[in-house]
Amino acid sequence: LFFVSPQFLLGVTTLKDLPSIGLPEIAFAGRSNVGKSSLINALFNRSDVARISNTPGRTQQLNFFQLQDFLILVDLPGYGYAQASKKIVDAWNNLLRAYLKGRPTLKRVYILIDSRHGLKENDLEMMEMLDKAAVSYQLVLTKIDQRSRVPLSSIYEGISRDLAKRPAAHPELLVTSSRTKQGIEDVQKAIYTLAFN
Ligand code: GDP
Repeated sequence: LFFVSPQFLLGVTTLKDLPSIGLPEIAFAGRSNVGKSSLINALFNRSDVARISNTPGRTQQLNFFQLQDFLILVDLPGYGYAQASKKIVDAWNNLLRAYLKGRPTLKRVYILIDSRHGLKENDLEMMEMLDKAAVSYQLVLTKIDQRSRVPLSSIYEGISRDLAKRPAAHPELLVTSSRTKQGIEDVQKAIYTLAFN
């Protein structure tokens, strides 16, 4: 599938700056360095999404992009920075929680998980926050081209078991590599289907 490059709309650091509700939205989340920029680049060829989202000063805000006339993409800041102070983490969690609770147009959050590492504590916190806000999410394993001590199948099964215990049903785990492009089309199709349903 080919999407034209999304256009940057705005970056939000405080609740009052959230854009008013309109088009359907999907959001991308994950630990920093999980491969979020690379995946977004692979999904939306030639896009400036990843570049903008990696610009210093724009990395700690919710970045809103518009994809043609049918979808808003929201790039959430990478979490899990060891250096981030508690104050910053708290402020960010409050903004995120407020966004999630007040967004009926938010169709789904894609949570990216490094396929070599599986679920970490802050991924579980993100999933719990979404479960509480009754927001649908789908997990996407990244970097599956990379060799790891733990076989991909056991990471996959471990995460599937965790998902099965959650209060709401969630769509199945996707597996991707931005490097080899494996699985990219599956994510594109999922996004396309969400936008038009
Ligand atoms: P972000 O911090 O989540 O935006 O992560 P980036 O997209 O900047 O990627 C972090 C690092 O992982 C970079 O060195 C990328 O080259 C690498 N990376 C990202 N995706 C892949 C992938 O699919 N395969 C491999 N082997 N490396 C990847």
